[in-house]
Amino acid sequence: MWVKKALIALGLLSALGGAARAGACGPQALGVSRTIAVGGPVHVGLKTYPQTLELKDHEVVLTFDDGPAATTARVLDALEAQCAKATFFLIGRNAAAMPAVVRREIADGDTVGSHSYSHPGDTLRRLPFAAGLAEIDKGAAAVDKAAGGKESKLFRFPGFGDSSALLATLDQKKVPVFGADVWASDWNAMTPQEELDLLMGRLRRSGGGIILLHDTKKQTADMIPALLAALKAEGFQLVHVVPGDAPPALKQAPAGWTSETDATLRKMGIEGPRKAGAPRMDVPLQEQREPNADKK
Ligand SMILES: [Zn+2]
Repeated sequence: MWVKKALIALGLLSALGGAARAGACGPQALGVSRTIAVGGPVHVGLKTYPQTLELKDHEVVLTFDDGPAATTARVLDALEAQCAKATFFLIGRNAAAMPAVVRREIADGDTVGSHSYSHPGDTLRRLPFAAGLAEIDKGAAAVDKAAGGKESKLFRFPGFGDSSALLATLDQKKVPVFGADVWASDWNAMTPQEELDLLMGRLRRSGGGIILLHDTKKQTADMIPALLAALKAEGFQLVHVVPGDAPPALKQAPAGWTSETDATLRKMGIEGPRKAGAPRMDVPLQEQREPNADKK
């Protein structure tokens, strides 16, 4: 015990990751209420697809895109303090640059998926098919290499910009494709408190769902401790997604569903394949303002 206290005093224990502090969470922690194994072929997330995971009222799944980054460790610390687990969709080149963070995510019991190699600004939808597929394969390989094993079994398209040909290929490979049900819209600049208020407002209205966040955003890393506390206080339960062998139970979208993602991409002029010589967009979709963003 004195060893643990001494390590805490020296600030060393937090560097050791989840195993060292396992069991430190009491009933006041958010924790994980259940685990869903997800195998392909399947596409989930109502922002993009007409079906999602069969979550119960007030169940949420935490997903983080675009990492790892310098801010990721603080997100992992916050999750660990609440015995909470999340899914991280990693950009391959970021994983290659920060493999230690990838290994900590795995050691902490979080799930790691891939999110292309370089997150092309005009999305994979607009790349020629072979280039889009190369982005997917290279990204997954980079995540696996950083992880030290075959870890990246789940995939999320950058900017949710899929194409029917790439989806068909991923289906064939039985790779589950993740969209999201609830956006934190953290690509927009706001304070951590504004982001918390926006996201909790959306969760109260939706009753839960697959939440999209970015561990690359300082405002989000700052907000996560308060978000986890608010989820606990308002009776939300955390569901942990892990790779599985078969598609999970699904919930169909309500009648009249339309893809908010497609509407967004259309407004940005991203519909079909990019024409030769057309200018590439120079900022990732996530950096752009969400059209019709409702602030509350
Ligand atoms: Zn992204």
